[in-house]
Amino acid sequence: MAYDQNNIFAKILRGEIPCEKVFENEHVFAFNDISRKAPIHILIIPKGPYVSSADFYEKASADEIVSLNRAIGEIAKEKGIVESGYRVISNHAAHAHQEVPHYHVHLLGGADLGGCFN
Ligand code: AMP
Repeated sequence: MAYDQNNIFAKILRGEIPCEKVFENEHVFAFNDISRKAPIHILIIPKGPYVSSADFYEKASADEIVSLNRAIGEIAKEKGIVESGYRVISNHAAHAHQEVPHYHVHLLGGADLGGCFN
């Protein structure tokens, strides 16, 4: 699938629509999910044009990959949820119901999230 420059996260990155920013560095941007499923629900995205998890890990540079994965830990630390715990989810394509075609990681925490597979 080709990258759609008009997807909602591309518009957030270009500043065309607002968001509640929580983190930014050279390669990564993060903001609160508009429809949060936990007290802390943050979306962490690469600034580069990657459609999905598969696209990102195939095409992104090592710097971008490390940066995105480190950002998860940095944001969790900043939010004070390292000890209490958190969940990281990334939906890829149709069977996972990926809604926005710009790679993103959901970081959820701030409460007991329940078991993931029961
Ligand atoms: P996914 O199903 O993994 O593609 O998740 C997409 C996520 O983007 C959902 O959790 C939505 O609530 C969230 N979302 C959609 N539009 C916005 C927006 N404008 N600002 C923040 N989060 C959004």
